[in-house]
Order: sequence, then C-alpha cells, then structure tokens
Amino acid sequence: QAKSQEDRNYFIFDWELREKLEQKTMIAKYLHSALEREEFVLHYQPQINAVTGQMIGMEALIRWNHPEKGLIGPGTFIAAVEEAGLMIQLTDWVLREVCRQLCEWRKMGIPLLRTSINISNSWFYNRNLIENLLSVLDHYGLGTNVLEFEITESTALLEEHYPLLQQMRDHGIIVSIDDFGTKYSSLNYLKHFPVNKIKIDRTFITGIGISSIDETIIKSIVFVASQLGYDLIAEGVETVEQLEFLVKHDCPHIQGFYFFPPLPAEEIIKLAS
Ligand code: C2E
Ligand code: MG
Ligand code: MG
Ligand code: MG
Repeated sequence: QAKSQEDRNYFIFDWELREKLEQKTMIAKYLHSALEREEFVLHYQPQINAVTGQMIGMEALIRWNHPEKGLIGPGTFIAAVEEAGLMIQLTDWVLREVCRQLCEWRKMGIPLLRTSINISNSWFYNRNLIENLLSVLDHYGLGTNVLEFEITESTALLEEHYPLLQQMRDHGIIVSIDDFGTKYSSLNYLKHFPVNKIKIDRTFITGIGISSIDETIIKSIVFVASQLGYDLIAEGVETVEQLEFLVKHDCPHIQGFYFFPPLPAEEIIKLAS
C-alpha cells in the first residue's frame, strides 16, 4: 500500500515536472510568434490631477490579444517573457508602439501627453540603449519629453544602471519608481539615485480608511517626496474616500479605476478630443 502510494507520488511528480517544462517551451514558442504577428496591444491608463481635473499623462500597459483566448493580461505572461529571454525584444516593441501611437495622435491634433512605459531590469543590458531610444523618437518626430520610464525598486537598487539612468534623465526622460514601498524598506537608494518621481503602490491605497498604518505610510511617502523634490502619483485609487484622503494629504496625482481603467487607444482619442 505504502509502496504503491510512493510510486504514484513519483509518477505525479514526474508528470507535473514534464508538463511544466513543456508549458514553458510552449509559451516561449507562442511568444516568439506573437511578437512576429504583432499580437500584443497597448492599453493606456490616464493619470489625473484631481484638483484641476486635468489629464496629466498616461501609462502604457501591455495585453496579449491571443487569437483564441482573447485579451490576456500581463500578469499571466510577463514572467514567461522574462524567462524566455524575450524581454528586451518586447520592451523595444512597447517603446516603438508608444512612439508610433503618440505620433498618430499628434497627427490627429490630439495634444501630446507624457506616456510611461514599464521597464524591466533586463532592458538595461541592451546594447546602444540610448542611441536606439533616441533614434526611435527621432523616427516619429518626438522629443524626449513625451516619455517616462517606470522602474521597480529592485532595478533602482542596481548601481550599475545609474550612469544609464542618469543619461536618460539628462535627456529629459522622467524616471519613476513603480510600486514604491513594496519591496525594500530602505530609502537609502533615494540618496544615491536621483529619480524624478515616485508611484505609491496600490497596496497602501487599499488601506485608506481601514488601516491607520497604511495611512501613516502614505503620509510619510508624501513628506519624503516633497522634501526630496520628487513628483508623486498614487496608483490603484478606486473610491472617493481614497481620493479625498490623497487630495487632503497633498497627493493630487491619481491613477486608478476611480477615474479610468486602462483604455484602448480609440477611447483615449474620445477623451482627449
Ligand atoms: P504596474 O506597472 O504597477 O501597473 C498598474 C497595474 O494596476 C495595471 O495592471 C493596472 O491595470 C492596474 N490598476 C490600475 N488602476 C487600478 C485600480 O484602481 N485598481 C486595481 N485593482 N488595479 C488597478 P496590469 O495592466 O494588469 O499590469 C500588471 C503589471 O504588469 C504592471 O504593474 C507592470 O508591472 C506589468 N506590465 C504591464 N505592461 C508592461 C509592459 O509593457 N512591460 C513590462 N515589463 N511590464 C508590464
Ligand atoms: Mg507601472
Ligand atoms: Mg505599479
Ligand atoms: Mg504593480
């Protein structure tokens, strides 16, 4: 009895492992052809100044328009992209597509708004990064002032990236820290690395009205940002209570479902015109 149970466990283990490996290679294969067939689309989430009511920018967020499964969110494939070694290619595609879209909007007479792109750590190992970046902007007749790069705290900690990030900043690109406060409690890197902007993570915003600890953390982030001269935006704002708290505590820049979810490009046109 015990023996056969053991055998079964082995069998299940093997089978699961094999399936996992097969799944990985399958996803990698699909991703390659998805990139070739341009099956990815970007949605754009408006960022609002809640005091003036103005749209101040937007974040480009990727979706996979799978021929059979429909629209798939990045949560299910971004890790696979990274594992398949396709992140540089994907980020290059996002950058180009954002620039193409901004160029198209401008031709339609829509005022250009700064658009942020999520940058993963691996992209910084891209050769000739700055040259390529500038040539894409140039190709679409755009200045560097239309772009913002969102990096995570783990990327911000890697000092080897600082010269490159500094160059981007010198060119007028905004560098922001995404999901701020979620990974590292040390604020030390802020001392060494001159970011422009901090995005307060949604996990703190959800605590507004519920957790006085979250509220205190938000107020502390607002204080640090204003003292160090960083721009600030709150992510994942869903309720009027959260909005009112943030405005009251001097964080009027808001990105969240309360105003808009990520929208397809056509919806952005309607908003802007
Ligand atoms: P993120 O950069 O922190 O993006 C914000 C996420 O929060 C987005 O999820 C957005 O749809 C969601 N969100 C915005 N407002 C609200 C809200 O009020 N409530 C709730 N519950 N959620 C809200 P999404 O689009 O699923 O993206 C998830 C993550 O995938 C992103 O987190 C980012 O880390 C990554 N990602 C998305 N696009 C790209 C990309 O082009 N390249 C890379 N490397 N990563 C990307
Ligand atoms: Mg982001
Ligand atoms: Mg975020
Ligand atoms: Mg996030």
